[in-house]
Amino acid sequence: MKNPVHLLVLGLMLMLSVCAEQQEQSPLTITYVANEGFLIECDGRKILIDALFGGWESTWCHVPPDSLIELMTSARPPFDNVDLIAVSHAHIDHCDAGIIALHMKHNRRGILVCPPHVARRMEASEDYPEIKSRIRVVPAPGDSAVAMELAGIALEVLPTRHGPYWEKDEETGEDIDRHRNVQHLEFVFTIGGRTLFHCGDSSLDDFESYRAFGMDRKHIDLGFLGWWGAWDDSFLSQRLVREVIRPERIIFMHLKPGQRISVQPEQQQSVAREVIVPQQVMETWTID
Ligand SMILES: [Zn+2]
Repeated sequence: MKNPVHLLVLGLMLMLSVCAEQQEQSPLTITYVANEGFLIECDGRKILIDALFGGWESTWCHVPPDSLIELMTSARPPFDNVDLIAVSHAHIDHCDAGIIALHMKHNRRGILVCPPHVARRMEASEDYPEIKSRIRVVPAPGDSAVAMELAGIALEVLPTRHGPYWEKDEETGEDIDRHRNVQHLEFVFTIGGRTLFHCGDSSLDDFESYRAFGMDRKHIDLGFLGWWGAWDDSFLSQRLVREVIRPERIIFMHLKPGQRISVQPEQQQSVAREVIVPQQVMETWTID
């Protein structure tokens, strides 16, 4: 048996190592732009993901109002000096090539990471020659995650499938997935000692792919997850969130304006330490 002095020293060392671990994490500020769009600020860096869209109205998701689009296209605070612009896929509730191009024109440090479909749309912009050298394309779908460092931010890009949207084919009468050819990326960012995961429009049910991407071996501090990821205990995606992604905190995405999540607080807490449900555009949270 160890003597009490050894135990005391061991205890102190443990406390110091816990403190050191905590000190390594910089405060994190998240601003909800709309739908699945967020501004992430940490350690003096800024990431904009799926935020540069808008110019239309919707009852099924939040859309950035014109005043917000004006701030984003002119790269004015809080959208100034954005280091990394990430886009999961080319659907209109995630990206608008014209808004992205204008933002990049006024924010000369911003690097865009996106699938080929989005990059192709950027080519139509008159500002394309000026910004094309700052576009990084990741092909999708793919079998392995792509690791890179952009603007001092480490990221892993997961080339995955968009969640299905089934509809009847008029000619054959068969159900077909309207989204089967969408090029779709998910992102894992490591910034300020924190690991953040954004699942885009994934249906969060592909255990095999997430395990192949090593998601079950990561510690995710914050997961930006489609609200369908925690609907009830029996839902496949709930199991995936619980067993594979295991995020410490969750921010729900793709909510309808005014939508409430009907999962009870105790259920939420059994999945993650905190579950944040955005209610209005430009809502901000700080995690120390
Ligand atoms: Zn989509």
